[in-house]
Amino acid sequence: MEKLNIGPIENHRQREEGVLIYPVYSRRSQGLSIGINLFPDHKRCSFDCPYCEVFPFRQDTPFSLELMEKQLHAELSAAQNRGMRVKDICFSGNGEPSLAPDFFAALDSAARIRDELVPDAALVLITNGTGLLKDQIFQGLRRAASGPKALHIWLKLDAGTAVWYRLMARSAVPFEGLIRAIKEFVACAPITIQTMLCAIQGKPPPQAEAAAWEGLVVELAGIGAGARCRTGERAPGIQDVQLYGKARPAPEDPLATALAPVYLAERAASLKAALEGSPLPRTRDAIPIRVFP
Ligand code: SF4
Repeated sequence: MEKLNIGPIENHRQREEGVLIYPVYSRRSQGLSIGINLFPDHKRCSFDCPYCEVFPFRQDTPFSLELMEKQLHAELSAAQNRGMRVKDICFSGNGEPSLAPDFFAALDSAARIRDELVPDAALVLITNGTGLLKDQIFQGLRRAASGPKALHIWLKLDAGTAVWYRLMARSAVPFEGLIRAIKEFVACAPITIQTMLCAIQGKPPPQAEAAAWEGLVVELAGIGAGARCRTGERAPGIQDVQLYGKARPAPEDPLATALAPVYLAERAASLKAALEGSPLPRTRDAIPIRVFP
């Protein structure tokens, strides 16, 4: 029988060994997640997050769609043979997936293989959102995120102010333009917000940053709140919010450090109160907020 080489909880270190497909137990998916790495040869990202877990590496083997399909098929078949339920197939890997030239072709292939072998599994993209600044990617993701078995988009929103964004993303992509693109996208597609809460050089996000982030999430929640969809589809707008802490080693440690779980819980409680107290139109249940310290 084929053997799955599953890493410990969200241990993605196999990615630096040049693998295209890596099964992990994901705490955020709460089950077996099959990761797809579009950058097996080197990291490629439009952000340079101080907590990024991708350690420096270099491999000779570039991404191959054919190999990805073959390996994805093999891993999903192995999981099935062992009676294991696959919760999701997740585009993550060594960088920003939407920067990969083969991204949309890989997405189509993964969706086809998912439908064939594990039709109940979700298809997930973890993105920093910078691809939304390109019209082709914006429209491609909008289309991929619609329909009953659509792509789930987990979008990074680590900052509510340009100051904290500079520290958290260290990116040439301007904060204001990125937020504008995210607002436009939320108006036409469902997304999950993912926010890393950590200290930088020992300092937690300032109070003004926490308040601005909260205000931004409430504003984003309002943008999609009035939309309606056909049965079985998810309406545009924020589906849920994930707050997560620094739980694993990073090459730049100790630049970014973990905050106390109680801090994350307080931020979640504050956001919940802000969402409940906002005058948003209510067309669906309250937005779930999940915390992963
Ligand atoms: S967006 Fe993701 S891959 Fe890119 S630097 Fe940040 S944590 Fe690393």
